[in-house]
Amino acid sequence: MEKSRDSIWVLAEQIDCQILSVSLQLIGQARKLADALGTSVETVLLGDHIEEQAKVLIAAGADTVYLGNRPELEVYQPEMYCEMIVHLARERQPAIMLIGSTFMGRELAPLVAARLQTGLTAHCVDLVLDENKILEAKIPAYGGLLSIICPQKRPQMATIAQGVFCKPELDETRTGAMIPLEVPVDIPQRIQTLEVVREATDGVEMESAPVIVAGGAGAGDPEGWRKIADLAQALNAALGSTRPAVDEGWAELETMIGQSGKVVSPQLYIGVGLSGEQQHMVGITNAQVMVAINNDVKSPVFEQVDYGIVDDCREFVPVLIKKIKAYQEKKITC
Ligand SMILES: Cc1cc2nc3c(=O)[nH]c(=O)nc-3n(C[C@H](O)[C@H](O)[C@H](O)COP(=O)(O)OP(=O)(O)OC[C@H]3O[C@@H](n4cnc5c(N)ncnc54)[C@H](O)[C@@H]3O)c2cc1C
Repeated sequence: MEKSRDSIWVLAEQIDCQILSVSLQLIGQARKLADALGTSVETVLLGDHIEEQAKVLIAAGADTVYLGNRPELEVYQPEMYCEMIVHLARERQPAIMLIGSTFMGRELAPLVAARLQTGLTAHCVDLVLDENKILEAKIPAYGGLLSIICPQKRPQMATIAQGVFCKPELDETRTGAMIPLEVPVDIPQRIQTLEVVREATDGVEMESAPVIVAGGAGAGDPEGWRKIADLAQALNAALGSTRPAVDEGWAELETMIGQSGKVVSPQLYIGVGLSGEQQHMVGITNAQVMVAINNDVKSPVFEQVDYGIVDDCREFVPVLIKKIKAYQEKKITC
């Protein structure tokens, strides 16, 4: 293999032979950074029967795809995936390595970073280059964005949530190299994924939802949470949450919006009983219209939304649902 140091890598992810959008979004951003650095974008894709998917990565902007296309790689295997990536990275020495902040990425990135003895910035909300062409990985902190750099070690690693960057236009005419990877025989397999059981998701999927109702600690208890869930249902909206709602067990982790959760871009976002903490709000910066319902007139959330309703959500939400239903019925009979 010809040596290609200092490239930007994206560890791409596929599930059931479908490339995740976050991987394509990262290739789009990697392309911009690579053009500024005068280097190439390379991707690693592991799975089975994924040759066609590798072409999608090239169409999205990758110059090279390292392709591990074997039955034993069909589903994510932490030790095997880690070993293959570490081995390849030691040989090819990328300057930057990006990975989606998915269930796989959140586990794999620190495993790889520890083996390569380099730094990793998790849950970034932006990636830029500083004046020395070092990666500035930005995370929300102290009421603003903090830039984390890794000037000494390589690769500079970061995980980024889905939705932070836009998906690039696919250009089917682009060409790139596809380099097959062998699976080393001596990889320890103390942890093996034997079966993948998918949870049935009820309600509307958050990533593509035009309307999102997100609830926070102000729900108070499971009954208060149910009212917020009913509001989401009445609006045919996806139900999102803040971290306390997840910690309380009212909401599933997959519904959490923000720095360590999902990044969403609905047309309408309604935040109920939440304070507008930055770690939550970075997940909804692309929302078109934002509404907050909070009983504290001084809550910082009101400075960040287009419309604010000062009221107790436990009383206001049921009234709002009634009004919405009445409006919907009237509309149907008109
Ligand atoms: C590294 C890191 C990452 C994090 N990542 C995330 C993340 O991804 N997503 C996330 O959400 N959080 C995240 N957090 C936590 C975050 O900092 C906040 O603690 C959290 O977002 C606050 O949630 P909240 O607004 O529901 O709760 P609170 O801040 O407690 O706010 C509750 C609000 O409800 C209002 N309220 C109370 N009772 C009522 C009522 N009856 N009616 C109406 N309003 C009422 C209150 O006035 C208050 O404004 C992270 C924190 C850290 C340190």
